[in-house]
Formats: sequence, C-alpha cells, structure tokens
Amino acid sequence: MTIQWFPGHMTRAKRQIEEKLKLIDVVFELLDARIPQSSRNPMVDELTRTKPRLVLLNKADLADPDKTAEWGRYFRSKGLAVHAIDANAGSGVKDITAKAKELLEDKIQRQINKGMKPRPVRALIIGIPNVGKSTLINRLAGRNIALTGDRPGVTKGQQWIRFGGDLELLDTPGILWPKFDDPIAGFRLAATGAIKEDIIHIDEVACFVLKVLVEQYGNVLADRYGLTDLPTALPDMQAAIDVLEAIGRRRGCIVGGGHVDYEKAATLLLRDLRSGKLGRMTLESPESFGEA
Ligand code: GDP
Repeated sequence: MTIQWFPGHMTRAKRQIEEKLKLIDVVFELLDARIPQSSRNPMVDELTRTKPRLVLLNKADLADPDKTAEWGRYFRSKGLAVHAIDANAGSGVKDITAKAKELLEDKIQRQINKGMKPRPVRALIIGIPNVGKSTLINRLAGRNIALTGDRPGVTKGQQWIRFGGDLELLDTPGILWPKFDDPIAGFRLAATGAIKEDIIHIDEVACFVLKVLVEQYGNVLADRYGLTDLPTALPDMQAAIDVLEAIGRRRGCIVGGGHVDYEKAATLLLRDLRSGKLGRMTLESPESFGEA
C-alpha cells in the first residue's frame, strides 16, 4: 500500500486512532524486527499513552536473532512489553494473548474480585505501512479479511475478530506514518521496502545496505556474490559504489561499453535482502540508532 502522507492525512490518521483507542484495552504496536527504531512512528508514545502497549517485533524470521534479543532487552529497559513474531508463518503469534493478559493483569483481577467473568481482551494493531498489520490480522482471524482502508467514520463499520476465547481484535488497524526527518531512518525504511524507492534513489539505498553488510555481515557478500578481497569497512560512498560495481560484474548487470548497470545491481541486491536470500539480518542496533 502506498500512502502519501500530507499533514491532513496525518491529522486524520491520528484522529482515527484516537477513536479506536476508546474501544480497546491494549495496543499492539507492530514494528519491523530488522529496523525496530526506524519503523516506529515518531508520535506513537504520545498517541497511545492512555493504553497499555505490547511491542511486537514482526518479520523476526528475516532479522538477526541475536539482535532481536538485544532489541527485546532495550524495549524492556524502557518499560515496554515486547515479543518477537513472524506473522507470515505464524511463529510467536499464539503467545500474543498471554502477553496482552499479563499487561492487563490488575484489571482482569479486579473483574474476578467483583465476581465477574473477565471478558476477552480487546486490542488494536497499529503500525506504519508494510510492517505486516494485515498479515497479522488475517493470521489471527484465520482467514483473509478485506481491509476497508482509511475512510472517514471508519469506526462505524468495524468488526471484532475473535482469536481463541480470550482476545478480540479490531479488524481495521491503525495506520501510522513513518519517520520523515531522519535520513538514516529513511535509508533503513527504504532498504526493507517500507517506503518507495522513488523517494530515495535505489543506488543510494544499495550503498547504505552494503555499508551495513560489509561492516557487520561481511561473509554474506563473499558467499552470495563470490566477492573476494572485500574491505572491512566502507568509509565513503565511492568505496560502496566499488562493491556494488563488483556485484554487478559478477551478476552480469552490464550495459553498453561493458559498464555496470548500477540500478540493476542495486535492484538485485535489495531483492536478495528483502527476500531473506542474504540470510537473517538486522539493519540497526539499539546503540547504533541516531548515528550518522
Ligand atoms: P501492512 O501494510 O502493515 O498491512 O503490511 P502487510 O500485512 O500487507 O505486509 C507487507 C508485506 O510484508 C507482505 O508482503 C507480507 O507478506 C510481508 N510480511 C508480513 N509479515 C511478515 C513476516 O512476519 N515475515 C515475513 N518474511 N514477511 C512478512
């Protein structure tokens, strides 16, 4: 889904989420496990402050497991509950209910003390486009639900999806805008496919990815593209372009005069990254966030 975020759309998205928050007990904030900080909406803390929140690190199947554990510790140190899942294949999904109930323990206990039967926990999924909201909703629903999109008055036509006996989920997620003003976050979002490449040029995104690969996952480039004599760091753009050129040559991305077609080489690299062919990797760690 491509959404052009203009100030009017952000105001409307914010208002729609505020409406939905009135209906639920707990927020599921969906993040991309490969870029947990860059895939966070800048206003999410403020917007959801009235409700308990469970951070779900989605696409964990594509992320570096050690880094996912590191991010788990980071979010917990900030007082947030966190859980890693793969909404596509379903791993971790069945534990979501128990995690949500833990957050609402006091409320549930009060209902029991009053002699009431605790009602199912009501939840709302929120996150930026492409983070996997529909995939998770469909998985919890056990069927494909046609999402209605962001129409005005959206709360009217909403339905609850039952998952087991203890969880009810709004069938329309809260769609939030990604970060715009942080160029590094922009590269990370583009690398994972969360924002379109026409906003940031694909060659530049590929060079950004190569920097991470060379510095943290060096063996991957040797294994996948047969590159030898790789440097251990890419100090500048030219060094990254040299590696991209080497990949292009190995993969036959050549145009007239024997020159490398950088765009083709960049497309190939990003396709391999996004499909997991380069292995499981995370593009930011808690301590790297904000670095230039
Ligand atoms: P939404 O815009 O947040 O609703 O995102 P979608 O549910 O449409 O998912 C965007 C893309 O990510 C789709 O191609 C999904 O198949 C893919 N996707 C979603 N969750 C996962 C996951 O856990 N693992 C992997 N590998 N892909 C996922």
